[in-house]
Amino acid sequence: MDPHPREAAPAGSSRGYARIDRDVLTQTDEEIRMKSPMHFRTKAIHIGNPTDRATGAVVPPIYVASTFVMEEAGKPQEYDYSRSGNPTRGNFETTIAALEGGVRGLAFASGMAASHCATMLLESGQHVIAGTDIYGGTYRLLHKICCRSGISVSLADTTILENLEQAVRPETKMLWLETPGNPRMSITDLRQAALWAKQRGILTVVDNTFATPVLTRPLEMGIDIVVHSATKYLGGHSDLLGGAIVVGDADLGQRLYYTQNATGGVMSPWDSFLASRGLKTLELRVREQCRSAQEIANFLSRHPRVSRVLYPGLTEHPGHSLAKKQMDGAYGAMLSFEVEGDLTQTKRLVESTKLFRLAVSLGAVESLIEQPATMSHASYDRADRQEFGITDSLVRLSVGLEHPSDLIRDLAEALGKL
Ligand SMILES: *Cc1c(COP(=O)(O)O)cnc(C)c1O
Repeated sequence: MDPHPREAAPAGSSRGYARIDRDVLTQTDEEIRMKSPMHFRTKAIHIGNPTDRATGAVVPPIYVASTFVMEEAGKPQEYDYSRSGNPTRGNFETTIAALEGGVRGLAFASGMAASHCATMLLESGQHVIAGTDIYGGTYRLLHKICCRSGISVSLADTTILENLEQAVRPETKMLWLETPGNPRMSITDLRQAALWAKQRGILTVVDNTFATPVLTRPLEMGIDIVVHSATKYLGGHSDLLGGAIVVGDADLGQRLYYTQNATGGVMSPWDSFLASRGLKTLELRVREQCRSAQEIANFLSRHPRVSRVLYPGLTEHPGHSLAKKQMDGAYGAMLSFEVEGDLTQTKRLVESTKLFRLAVSLGAVESLIEQPATMSHASYDRADRQEFGITDSLVRLSVGLEHPSDLIRDLAEALGKL
């Protein structure tokens, strides 16, 4: 389909609304954005959530249509086919773009579809530098899929700028960052990395899934592309699968949109609706989850069976002072810790908590526990796991919205059985 080249949506446009009401709604969005600058949580509720003009419904309807009637053969119109554009998906894209401070948002079927779309900017013969502390699926995408297209990858500990200098090659075209890192919660200086890359014509990508735009807005720090697994905090309730890309440059947004439309990994209308709903409470959830994570980190750091806690909110964490500067008032709700025990004992520990449920994924209202070596980071080569400190006794927590005292009791009981 898509017979017409599409224009990039201007900032604040209400892409994703019934054509008949577009003018009115575009104006409303523009007014909201330009004339009265809003706080994050207000934007999360009002941008991309236009009132339904037909009925007055405060929640926009979910448009399930795959195709849209044309007014005239061959005449470009906003919607023609849902892979190319869907009003419900457009609403989510408008909101996430506003929250990240970007001009264009794109919603994908999963975080990996979003990440893959970003890597498709690369061409055969080019090189990407990625962090050593990144999502297992991204490691796999770069090493096992992108390499088939003649793209090479180097991993570097991106917390130290000299490591980038050592890894860079004339053909390096992309720098892939996660901060806090996964699973070791390492903190990378985004302003510094963006500056370094810009001087060398290297495109920067930040997977902002862990920090969320509540705590870190990479585009404001000079980063080119933000990627999300919307499955995690953005959705926030473990009931959708989705991904997002946000950029601050309309041309780059258009290139990514072209690839997305050509390859088809788009977010479904139902998931788009759930993701939009999730965004409305994003800041409240994340800030409260961070408070609990800090309490839990404090508890774990005093526990005799815990040898090390990796949480940027602890002053002994190597990235603490940078995180304090770079993150907006809190340190995230993900944390890892090492226990005094081998692979089997650690396995038993993650299997014995009751409130913390044994599962991969993160960022939702229910707390989760997992063992990176056998679960989230099993797709790393064993040697790389060892080199990058993803030890057999490492445990990762996603702190949810339960009462922190209940969560601490749960961990205390499980650790007591070690
Ligand atoms: C889960 C996750 C992804 C992949 O997202 P999916 O929605 O599972 O495809 C990418 N990056 C990070 C940091 C993640 O946690």
